[in-house]
Amino acid sequence: MTTVRTRIAPSPTGDPHVGTAYIALFNLCFARQHGGQFILRIEDTDQLRSTRESEQQIYDALRWLGIEWDEGPDVGGPHGPYRQSERGDIYRKYALELVEKGHAFYCFCSAEELDQMRAEQMARGETPRYDGRALKLSAEEVQRRLAAGEPHVIRMKVPDEGVCVVPDMLRGDVEIPWDRMDMQVLMKTDGLPTYFLANVVDDHLMGITHVLRGEEWLPSAPKLIKLYEYFGWEQPQLCYMPLLRNPDKSKLSKRKNPTSITFYERMGYLPQAMLNYLGRMGWSMPDEREKFTLAEMIEHFDIQRVSLGGPIFDLEKLSWLNGQWLRELPVEAFASEVQKWALNPEYLMKIAPHVQGRVETFSQIAPLAAFFFSGALNLEPALFEHKRLDAVQVRQVLQLVLWKLEALRQWEKERITGCIQAVADHLELKLRDVMPLMFASITGQASSVSVLDAMEILGPDITRYRLRQALELLGGASKKEVKAWEKLLTAIA
Ligand code: GLU
Repeated sequence: MTTVRTRIAPSPTGDPHVGTAYIALFNLCFARQHGGQFILRIEDTDQLRSTRESEQQIYDALRWLGIEWDEGPDVGGPHGPYRQSERGDIYRKYALELVEKGHAFYCFCSAEELDQMRAEQMARGETPRYDGRALKLSAEEVQRRLAAGEPHVIRMKVPDEGVCVVPDMLRGDVEIPWDRMDMQVLMKTDGLPTYFLANVVDDHLMGITHVLRGEEWLPSAPKLIKLYEYFGWEQPQLCYMPLLRNPDKSKLSKRKNPTSITFYERMGYLPQAMLNYLGRMGWSMPDEREKFTLAEMIEHFDIQRVSLGGPIFDLEKLSWLNGQWLRELPVEAFASEVQKWALNPEYLMKIAPHVQGRVETFSQIAPLAAFFFSGALNLEPALFEHKRLDAVQVRQVLQLVLWKLEALRQWEKERITGCIQAVADHLELKLRDVMPLMFASITGQASSVSVLDAMEILGPDITRYRLRQALELLGGASKKEVKAWEKLLTAIA
C-alpha cells in the first residue's frame, strides 16, 4: 500500500493567512490519521510578489500553532528542493515534453495582440479566451521565431467540448464543461512555470497522494486533471475544502476580519485554542464537543465529516473558545503563557528604552505603556478632534495611512514614517498635523512614548487593527469615499 502523503503549498506573498493554517491543519490530520507524511512546499514562482520574509512568517506562524511538517524547504527531505523557485530546470523539461507530445504549443502573441483578440471577442458577445491562433503556425515558423529569440509562452491544449469529471472526495463527481477552460499558459515569457504546471509536476514528483486544497481552486481542476493525463501520471485524490467566510457569509477577507495568524498571536490567543477553532471550521468531533486538542482531532479525524456549508470564522466564537482554554489551564501554566505572550524579556527590552526616561517609579510604567499590552483600545471620539482638519479629512488621513501600511512589506520605523509622510505630503498637510491622529489611534492617549516607535514595536497587525478601529469609531469610509480615496492612493508615492 502506498503511504499517504499530503501537502500544503502556500505562496509567500503576504501575511501568513488563517486560511493557510486551516488547510494545513486538515492536510496534517488526514496524513497523520493514515500514518502518512505531511509536506510543506513553497510556491514562489511569482517573482514579483514572493518574499523570503513572508516565507519565514509562514513557517513561524504554522509552528506557533503547533503544525509541523515532515519535509519542507527548511527541514529538507528526499524530494527537494521544496521551493519552486529552485526547481526551474525541472519544469522546463516537463513543459518541453508536453510540446513534443503535441499537448502544448509555443505562443508568440504579444500582450497587445491578446488584448485586441479579447476586445473583439467581447464585442461579439463571446467569453474572452485564447483562440488557438498560434496552433496555426507551421513547425518551421515556430523554429525560426524561437531561434530568433522571440518572447514566447507555452500553452496547454484543452478540449473545446464535452465535460471534465472532477472526482472530489467531498462532493463526489463534479462536472465542469471544457468550453470554460482556456488554453492555459504553462511557461511564462520569463521562463518560469505557472501554478498549473509547477503544481502538477511537484505533486507528482513529491509523491503526493491526496490534495486537500481550498474550494476556490475547484473551477480550474480540469486543467490539472488534463495535465496528469497528458503526462500519463496517476492523479492524486482531490478534496476541495469549503472556504472560510466572514460572518456576513462573504469570503474571509482582511477588510472585514483580521486574517493574519500573527494578529491572533499578538492579540493573546492561545495557539491550541486557535488550532482548535480552525478544526471546527466545517468539521466536528463525532461527539460534537467544542474543545479538543490536535492529538484528539487526529485520533477522531474523518474527512467525510467535513460539511460543505461555508464555515464562518467568527471572532466572538473564537474568543469564547479561547476563554474556555484559558480558564482550564492550571494557574501556573496560565501565568507562564502570559509571560511568553508579552511579559518576556525580548518584548520588555523593546519597550524599556522608551519608558525609562519618562518615569520616576516603576509603578508609573503600567499607565504609560498599557497600550503595548492591549488589543483593542477604548478610544474616545474627542481624541480625534482636530484644530486644522475637519472630520472628513481626519477619516481620509486614517484611511490612506491604513492602506499605505497594509501594503508595507518591511515593517521598520523609517518606512512607516515614510508612509505617513507620503500621505501628509499628498494631502498638502504637515506631518505634525497628521501625527496626533496616529497618537490617538495607536496609544489611545494624547501623548505618550514616540508613536512611530510604538507602531514599530506593536507590529503591523495591531497597528493596522487600531487604525481601522479608529476609522470605524469615526464612522468609517462611505463607498463613495473609498472610491475617491482609492484613486488618490494610486497617486501617492
Ligand atoms: N500556491 C497555491 C496557494 O497559494 C496552492 C494551491 C494548491 O494547494 O494547489 O494557495
